[in-house]
Amino acid sequence: MPLTFDPPNQPKYSGDDVITSIWQDPGFGSYFTDHMAVADWDRQVGWHNDRIVDYAPVALDPAGAVYHYAQEVFEGLKAYRHADGSIWLFRPEANAARFERSAHRLALPELPAEDFVTSVHRLVEIERRWVPGGEEQSLYLRPFMMASENFLGVRPAQSVLYVVIASPVGAYFTGGVAPVDIWVSTEYSRVANGGTGAAKCGGNYAASLLPQELAHENGCSQVLFVDAAERRWVEELGGMNFFMITTDNQLVTPNLNGNILPGVTRDSLLTVAPELGLTPVERPIELSEVLTRIGDGSVRELFACGTAAVITPIRSLKHEEREYIIDVDKATHTIPLREHLLDIQYGRSADTRGWMRRVC
Ligand SMILES: *Cc1c(COP(=O)(O)O)cnc(C)c1O
Repeated sequence: MPLTFDPPNQPKYSGDDVITSIWQDPGFGSYFTDHMAVADWDRQVGWHNDRIVDYAPVALDPAGAVYHYAQEVFEGLKAYRHADGSIWLFRPEANAARFERSAHRLALPELPAEDFVTSVHRLVEIERRWVPGGEEQSLYLRPFMMASENFLGVRPAQSVLYVVIASPVGAYFTGGVAPVDIWVSTEYSRVANGGTGAAKCGGNYAASLLPQELAHENGCSQVLFVDAAERRWVEELGGMNFFMITTDNQLVTPNLNGNILPGVTRDSLLTVAPELGLTPVERPIELSEVLTRIGDGSVRELFACGTAAVITPIRSLKHEEREYIIDVDKATHTIPLREHLLDIQYGRSADTRGWMRRVC
């Protein structure tokens, strides 16, 4: 039986004044809407008790397995308000499919893709007043699943909780898209062969935080991770995929080698690349190739991408005391690519691939 995530009989609503004052400066992930979608799973009955409830703390016993063994996966996608007031999701089925794969890797139960999409759809429907309409604003959706069984034995949990929360968010960069400096981590890895790199799980993020701090200490805002085995191949950033654009108009990104998170933004950019005169290429990329080609000018643009910031241009890579600087003024494709995707998401250009799903 498909889940329905029915809303409460008497939903609680924040006043318009509260919502519009948050819209003035929502930041990212700081404010949350009035409701959340919830469902329970246990080994005997499977998924059940699906519902929309008032936003509230989740009460878990201190023996709840997620606190101890980090059996958790999550997703991130956005709802966009178009100029005519309608509200749309971008490729939610892609997030649903990835959520199933992530859950499988973390030995969590798979939530059927259809139920995932329903949960997100119904939450956005009830929270439609919260979806902002300003430049690059959206309602960020965070579905997640965790082991909720009270048991300290080490095995997959027999009971699980699924929750979706929603947060109005603004342009990731206030005052225009700012190129960032990136620290290449050779000391720490975030994932390793056979590990959880292709799963969107909290544990991968936990492993990325210390190197992230190191990046900050070195004047960089993000970390670029290389492969753990040889420390030779570029993989991705802590939460974004990595791209380079060559002077012969190739849009190159590391192939999905099992350690890289298959980003929906990554896949979408590879798909639209020909429309901007770029040839998409997925292949192993050696760090030394990137550094050499920044030097000889045959790589002219680097960027990172993900749902939150869409595309972030990269200004420099710092590696072993040296800084490799891109002349960002010569970048001709990064911003048009970014605009191209935003135009589809915000309904300003035709959705020729059927990526958009109307909520209301
Ligand atoms: C979520 C995520 C991305 C980006 O994926 P999108 O689907 O484009 O948002 C990239 N890398 C990691 C590690 C991630 O967790």
